[in-house]
Amino acid sequence: MSERLSGHTLLIGLIATPIRHSLSPKMHNEAFAKLGLDYAYLAFEVGNDELEDAVKGIRALGIRGANVSMPNKQAIIPYLDELSPAAELIGAVNTVVNKDGEGHLVGHNTDGVGAVKALASEGVSVKDQIITLAGAGGAGTAIAVQLSLDGAKEVRIFNPNDPTYANAEKTVEKIMSKTDTKASITDIDNQEAFKKSIAESSIYIDATGVGMGKLIDLSLINDPEVIRPDLVVFDVVYSPAETKLLKFARANGAKKTMNGLGMMLYQGAAAFKLFTGEDMTVDYIHDLLFNDK
Ligand code: NAD
Repeated sequence: MSERLSGHTLLIGLIATPIRHSLSPKMHNEAFAKLGLDYAYLAFEVGNDELEDAVKGIRALGIRGANVSMPNKQAIIPYLDELSPAAELIGAVNTVVNKDGEGHLVGHNTDGVGAVKALASEGVSVKDQIITLAGAGGAGTAIAVQLSLDGAKEVRIFNPNDPTYANAEKTVEKIMSKTDTKASITDIDNQEAFKKSIAESSIYIDATGVGMGKLIDLSLINDPEVIRPDLVVFDVVYSPAETKLLKFARANGAKKTMNGLGMMLYQGAAAFKLFTGEDMTVDYIHDLLFNDK
């Protein structure tokens, strides 16, 4: 990289904490190098307390953009000048663009776009579809909004009655008032409604994180009758690559199952396009990051 960097190099940041483990710097820097773009991407370990100063720094230094992750996705909004329609509806930002380096900062959210593009890359369109979505946290909200913006017929959200439930109710209201999609939120404890909804859906998305970390041995679907060959089963988790849900779905005949790798790649590619105007070489980056090539 040292051969690439010069006095003209434009900087993109990643503002979150903890963040040193992130694959994003490698993803973006490899893509800049592959396309011969004079950019560099660096991670900055910044939390809510330093966030306002960090945003002032973006403007003062002419940093061209930044990805934003936890705990800053919502907290950054008051410091920005404008939000994209998706970021406005989601109420969270994962990408900030400082167009032309002139200090007008626009917040975007590419998480939902990442999920929809990952589905499209597997030949699955969300348009006119009934979709059951488990989880109404950060990822679930972004996905619900993007499914609606991309013309899903119905988005049926299921979530435990925890603090994210009230936020899900607001998301449902926003989707119903701003898009043509019908949206609903139901307590996932209502297993009868959950199973009925999946039976009426062509796509099931799990955006809860159940199946990773401490919840690695769990799946929200354990009844083989819920799985059909034509039900697309998409788990946003990518580590492990095969969650208990995906294993169960495959074992019970689901023909199309997907983990969260595609979503991760495509949310990065959408941010890359916003930063540079160029298309990220997604297949090349996928092989580089995940096949050790
Ligand atoms: P979050 O904490 O904001 O939301 C989690 C949601 O799951 C909440 O609505 C919560 O109520 C629900 N939930 C938690 N435990 C549950 C259970 N036992 N049963 C049913 N629902 C349950 O988290 P987040 O930021 O939305 O992340 C969720 C998952 O998505 C994580 O695993 C994260 O790694 C993954 N993620 C993947 C990508 C990607 O690009 N593939 C992007 C963002 C997040």
